Amino acid sequence: MIYSNLKTLSRALKEKQISSVELARLFLDRMARVNPELNAFITVDEEKTYAAAKTADARLADGTAGLLTGIPLAQKDIFCAEGWKTTCGSKMLANFISPYDAAVVTKLEQEAGMVSLGKANMDEFAMGSSNETSFFGAVKNPWDTTCVPGGSSGGSAAAVAAYLAPVATGTDTGGSIRQPAAFCGLSGIKPTYGVVSRYGMIAFASSLDQGGVLAHSAEDCAYVLSAMAGFDARDSTSLQRPQEDYRSRLEEPLRGLKIGLPKEFFGAGANSEVMAAVLAAVEAYKRLGANVVEVALPNSHLSVPAYYVIAPAEASSNLSRFDGVRYGYRAAEYDDLNDMYRKSRAQGFGAEVKRRILIGTYVLSHGYYDAYYLQAQRVRRLIADDFRAAFGQCDVILGPTSPTTAFKLGEKSADPVAMYLSDIYTIAVNLAGLPGLSIPCGFDERGLPIGLQLIGNYFDEARLLSVAHQYQQATDWHSRRPQGF
Ligand code: GLN
Repeated sequence: MIYSNLKTLSRALKEKQISSVELARLFLDRMARVNPELNAFITVDEEKTYAAAKTADARLADGTAGLLTGIPLAQKDIFCAEGWKTTCGSKMLANFISPYDAAVVTKLEQEAGMVSLGKANMDEFAMGSSNETSFFGAVKNPWDTTCVPGGSSGGSAAAVAAYLAPVATGTDTGGSIRQPAAFCGLSGIKPTYGVVSRYGMIAFASSLDQGGVLAHSAEDCAYVLSAMAGFDARDSTSLQRPQEDYRSRLEEPLRGLKIGLPKEFFGAGANSEVMAAVLAAVEAYKRLGANVVEVALPNSHLSVPAYYVIAPAEASSNLSRFDGVRYGYRAAEYDDLNDMYRKSRAQGFGAEVKRRILIGTYVLSHGYYDAYYLQAQRVRRLIADDFRAAFGQCDVILGPTSPTTAFKLGEKSADPVAMYLSDIYTIAVNLAGLPGLSIPCGFDERGLPIGLQLIGNYFDEARLLSVAHQYQQATDWHSRRPQGF
């Protein structure tokens, strides 16, 4: 049962082959055995999980259940969940019990009736590409436990890849759903900015942050995204659009689809094994009836530099709320109010978070604002314009998700710039606010999964998922399992 897709789980629950409580027990028992090695979950509360599963079983019995009612999931620990510890991977919030639910939690758990198995580990405040910045320790990649699972949604990715949960939530500011999905052999979607409410999702860089899903297939992503998306008046950037069923186009044939290959994504950036797998996927798409055109994203080389101005600027502002007064860590000893702020923040934040706060404060300061921040905003516009022009020539854009497969634990943690470059293919998508998805398209010679990225035009999630699903119907990369799991 733990290896089943969501459609099968949903049917099994409806037909009473298994109860939600039994299903939760299967996953919790497995988690108790496997999680100590992986460190994918950082908070587990069996009582809460079983209570939610019982409520789901009651709904399944009285006919009020929806498609996802009773299905377990892992919640990235960036989503506030009432009564649950919500740490965002930080010492700053290590003892924070959320008094309310994020919109995503309300929608998936309260409304759809999914059952949370616990909170998934993550890079501190979602800053990282390896999950190594977490205050609660690194997460191991189930495909090779000497490697990172990617980040920042590394706990979510490892949990799903090791079948500790059938599906997980994630967030993606610069690649944090797609890159860990690629490193762990999963399908992961970041929707168009504004499609999933950010209410109760702890803010990193508000103009880039977007919630999404990590799962074993595009079809599973479509199930969960349909329940997760929707307008929310409590998030001022939430978009007022009709509710969508993202499964609606899954079976659409690919014939006539125009796939754009940005020449900048097929240059020297990615390693040869990644490139070979991505090119093989292009051939598979051609066989399925798609046409391929070359497109250009001439400013894409500026996306990482622009992002590392804009994201830290927003982070420095968002993280100013953690002052040790209303919530979060407070230093035990201090002289006066200023000393209390200083010590609480010095002790409560980790090194990467401090680096971002320093960069952000610097680029927003008088005298540098025009030179850095405004300039980065202009570059952001150019990047969005590049995509607009490209989508005049094609329906979806295809390329690698990440230039490499999963790297070794510790390999890049001492070199922030090397770490930042793992997002060279994903960040432009956030800067433009577009939907992006990663699916597995092969393995390297060490047996590590390789990710293929598909980028859609605004609100084209249903088509993206369909383009991914059609590939997954014709290939089996997404259904391989890591050895030992
Ligand atoms: N790795 C990028 C960063 O460190 C992106 C993180 C994210 O998407 N949350 O900022």
